[in-house]
Amino acid sequence: MSNATIGIEKYVAAAKKSSEQTARQKAKMRSCCFDTIATHGMYSMEEALNFNQGSIIEPIYMSTSQTFRDSDEMEAALSYQIPTWGYSRIANPSIYYLENTLALLEGYGFNGEVDCCATSSGMAAIQCATDPFLVVDSKNPNKPINFVATCQVYGGTFQQFLMRKMADRGIECRWIIDSADLTEWEAKIDDNTRFLYGEAPSNPGQAFFDIAQVAELAHAHGVPLIFDNTIATPALMRPLCHGADVVIQSVTKTLSSSGFCIGGAVIARHDIPSIVGPDEMRANFAAYLKMLPNRDNGQNLSPFHAILSLNDMRTLRSKIDLFSRNTTQVAKFLEQHPNVESVAYLGLTSHPQHELASKYLWLVDSEKDELYGKPVNRYGHLMCFNVKGGAQAARNMLDALQRIWRATDLGRVKSVANIPAISTHSQQGEEGRAIANIPPNLVRLCVGAEHPKDVIADLAQALDCVATKTKAAVPRQFSTAGASHFSATQE
Ligand code: PLP
Repeated sequence: MSNATIGIEKYVAAAKKSSEQTARQKAKMRSCCFDTIATHGMYSMEEALNFNQGSIIEPIYMSTSQTFRDSDEMEAALSYQIPTWGYSRIANPSIYYLENTLALLEGYGFNGEVDCCATSSGMAAIQCATDPFLVVDSKNPNKPINFVATCQVYGGTFQQFLMRKMADRGIECRWIIDSADLTEWEAKIDDNTRFLYGEAPSNPGQAFFDIAQVAELAHAHGVPLIFDNTIATPALMRPLCHGADVVIQSVTKTLSSSGFCIGGAVIARHDIPSIVGPDEMRANFAAYLKMLPNRDNGQNLSPFHAILSLNDMRTLRSKIDLFSRNTTQVAKFLEQHPNVESVAYLGLTSHPQHELASKYLWLVDSEKDELYGKPVNRYGHLMCFNVKGGAQAARNMLDALQRIWRATDLGRVKSVANIPAISTHSQQGEEGRAIANIPPNLVRLCVGAEHPKDVIADLAQALDCVATKTKAAVPRQFSTAGASHFSATQE
């Protein structure tokens, strides 16, 4: 054995001990309730006292890189023989705190190992989670590749699949028009389908499908189900418990409801199925992403944003309970309003998927909650409604809002609304919106933490204005710094 090998072995042996300690801490946290995990994650008093000067909040490690004791430790770290960080594009302690908390929350109640890889945005998470399955198969290099996805997805996802994968790379996306129809899923899968992809409740249309059945179908074909759980969050649904293999989160949204950061995450169980890729990818997909493709492609999150999101996530369960209850009241008000054609909210019994969604969407730990003492359904804070009178009536209503913010955003503690056809879902074109059922008079509304009486009052006065355009807004002075005149994908 050379001196260098002996030196490296020393670090590997020490790292083994700290990995065992991490595993013990993870096991300890897994026995805690959801709120405790959200509040503490993997950050313990021992860690605070031993490594972080007793800081009770996880420190923000803004440093780009870490120094090493000697060349042996450097080599051991950069060859991934020891779990240190070395360079923040690859790993960083603040990001580690967020990743482990998210893995614990999405894995809550799941009987198996779960890991997480944080990304710079929700869109980056979707790219990171899907591209490793879309590689050339060396045994069949010329066979066309496809994947199957619900067409009712966030507009940015639609664009990524349609333009970045289909148009740019010739990878076929086979859209599922009616995600509740299992025969349609089955008919679209063939022997070079690489994964199934779904979003539910969908943004904005509130489509929902039977996750367990679709996961079973995916597994029967040896491929994973990749699932965007942004709208429900792990406080209402944990798709891994229903058979999904990889979960996407736009951390930007309800997870970090204050609206201070853009971020994303890929959370995956271990030992996922795939007809392509190396064994290490199947064994631990999130760790594989972090250590290899993301190291090479660089879609990492900022440590600052990681801790801001983590702070927001601590109260996730109670926030989504409040938001959901407020949204239900607002949806009931809209449902009976004469200027509203229809309302789509999974919490309303009028929604065609209400019963199915009620099988999946539960406020986590409500049975342990003093307030409820039994399982209770909650449906999140995204909903949409069609304004009577067409596109102009919807615009008049939106323009008249005084408290609800007109913004291409959702998941906020403040209520926000938009018209998807001219904003979040504009790029996918009329045809794309037609299959996804997004007409021009559809308004997306995400209800926040205000008292619902005040949200309803704002909507009531705005709905009185559907026939009249409100006074023209005074154009603001634009700063050209940072502004884009090119039609970029918006939230
Ligand atoms: N997934 C869903 C369901 C979304 O609503 C969004 C954005 O609205 C994204 C993914 C993309 O997330 P980000 O804006 O963080 O890139």
